[in-house]
Amino acid sequence: MTFHPRYTGLIDKYRDRLPVHDDTRVISLGEGNTPLIRLNNIPRLLKKDVDIYVKFEGLNPTGSFKDRGMTMAVTKAVEEGSRAIICASTGNTSASAAAYAARAGITAFVLIPDGKIAMGKLAQAMIHGAVVIQIKGNFDAGMELVKEVGKEAPVTIVNSINPYRLQGQKTAAFEILEELGTAPDFHCIPVGNAGNISAHWMGYCEFHDHGIVNNRPTMVGYQASGAAPFLRGKMVDNPETIATAIRIGHPQSWDKAWAVQRESKGWFDECSDEEILAAQRMLSGKEGIFCEPASATSVAGAMRDITNGKIPEGSKIVCTLTGHGLKDPDTAIKQSTSSVITVEANLKSVKEAILRHV
Ligand SMILES: *Cc1c(COP(=O)(O)O)cnc(C)c1O
Repeated sequence: MTFHPRYTGLIDKYRDRLPVHDDTRVISLGEGNTPLIRLNNIPRLLKKDVDIYVKFEGLNPTGSFKDRGMTMAVTKAVEEGSRAIICASTGNTSASAAAYAARAGITAFVLIPDGKIAMGKLAQAMIHGAVVIQIKGNFDAGMELVKEVGKEAPVTIVNSINPYRLQGQKTAAFEILEELGTAPDFHCIPVGNAGNISAHWMGYCEFHDHGIVNNRPTMVGYQASGAAPFLRGKMVDNPETIATAIRIGHPQSWDKAWAVQRESKGWFDECSDEEILAAQRMLSGKEGIFCEPASATSVAGAMRDITNGKIPEGSKIVCTLTGHGLKDPDTAIKQSTSSVITVEANLKSVKEAILRHV
């Protein structure tokens, strides 16, 4: 039997590739090290010879990739003497900020859009003790307010405009390269503020520039049709989509993401809410993987581009699944095709119910 040292989070693992010092007090919940799961059934259903892996970021401590960035942002905020952090959020950033602030013993202020936040995410922000400020406006309005407050009050902004966030998030690319031993041909990823696509590209380039691998992927960013500024070529003022995590019309990493598209010779595309939900159902029903709607956008887009040949047969593809399905149980139940059968509590009734379904 071989014993492995306890995994203590991505800052400890990638210390020499992150802006921390030997004596930095690390604020960690053991984030990172998420599974890269090879899809078995979806490629068969598509009748295409492709190797698809999903990087299941929903298995981070608070259920989304935001933890990778938050461990860095909160570690640095504490190191710099900050006593409070603030963010605007469609839900997952606030859940993550609340948890890491609790861990560090500091205060988290979170601005969330009125009503349009998945229930699990709100529960997380509240139970971790964040000060939750619901604004009568959308994420983009919240983001502008946070930037204003950041100028006037002694709080550290932990949205992805905080450069430490992207530093932490680039480690997802490191993990993929280590596990595959090479870059995938295509990396498909949902795009909201476009911080994560930019962070992945940073990570891929870093290993490539240091000669650890000799290739880089083509980056493909998918947006929800109702919130697709990269497809429209300009900001969108009233974004709408069931995928609330990417209901963003004014992406903060606009220039960075266009640079990623150019440098990686990739592209952006959009998926309808129906396509997104269909992909979520396929992942949960055919592969046993439950991600939130926004996350399924990567697989919805990849399935379309594999089918139409834009992603050719023989390709190795990684799709990021950004958040866990349990974040948004309402949407899952509403669109579920299996129903709950209520029967009397006796053997005969249960048997009848079973027999009707074999
Ligand atoms: C934050 C988030 C996104 C969007 O990531 P960006 O870096 O804003 O592009 C996508 N999916 C989920 C589940 C998220 O929480």
